[in-house]
Amino acid sequence: MELQHIADNVYYLASVINIGVIRGDDDQVVLIDSGIGDRSARRILRVLQAEGLRPVAVCNTHGHGDHVGGNAYLVEHAGVRVYAPLYDSTIIRQPIWSTLCMFAGAEPIHELAVPRFSARPSPVDVIVTEGKLSIAGTTIEAIPMPGHTGTHTCYRVGRVLFLGDLLSSEVELERSKISYAYSVTMRLESLARLPTIEADYYLPAHGGLRQDIGPLLELNVARVRETLDFIREYLARGRAEATDIVAAVADHFGLDIGRVREYFQIHPTIYAHLSYLHNRGEIDFELEGNRLWWVAGAGHL
Ligand SMILES: [Zn+2]
Repeated sequence: MELQHIADNVYYLASVINIGVIRGDDDQVVLIDSGIGDRSARRILRVLQAEGLRPVAVCNTHGHGDHVGGNAYLVEHAGVRVYAPLYDSTIIRQPIWSTLCMFAGAEPIHELAVPRFSARPSPVDVIVTEGKLSIAGTTIEAIPMPGHTGTHTCYRVGRVLFLGDLLSSEVELERSKISYAYSVTMRLESLARLPTIEADYYLPAHGGLRQDIGPLLELNVARVRETLDFIREYLARGRAEATDIVAAVADHFGLDIGRVREYFQIHPTIYAHLSYLHNRGEIDFELEGNRLWWVAGAGHL
């Protein structure tokens, strides 16, 4: 992990998840996200200290464990202030909300208590909304781009846009096929908005820095469209329960869901596709035989 320069006062630490580093006044830096846990936070701190830099704040793009898992360590060892968007701040303060949402709102099975889903809790000092933040003499623009989570937020500093998990990288899409989504409706709106946000450099949290975001954006949109088209066609052939649809979508993309945590990760994403189609009146449901069947055709608008 080494500090890499992007432009002006903007740097990043390349890792499994990229950490944005914004140089402010004196030796102060602001971080975009904090990595997956204590160990990565310790490495971040060590690299920054070797450069004579002192983190004073973390701006989280969203509340997933691999983005906020270093918060607690950085609060304890560097006294950083944490900035995070509203829905995601709930998960950062009380990580149980992440795994109980995956487990249909119930007490989750212990297999879901992995750092990626369930970070150490951290305080949130400032709730981020759309607009400019002035921290340590720098200006950081918060741009809400919901969909991946309910209040997922990108940050622009000068000519650099930190994307968080707005876009899945080519490697991620090759591996998991479908991008995790809380809301397909919001995600498509955010993806449509991305070309209107001016920047010279784009940094996805998982993937390389790039100047042309077009091809990756197209790939992400195409994957959502393909998933929606598949569900429409699948239901046109006959009604199905959500669990059937999860399996059919996985089969369609050649996914072999081998871990229970992957299963409970794909579940809400498929539900996000179902609510998108239902709320647009494209599919409906029937309750019969104590089962909820999804059916093609007009729903209740
Ligand atoms: Zn995420």
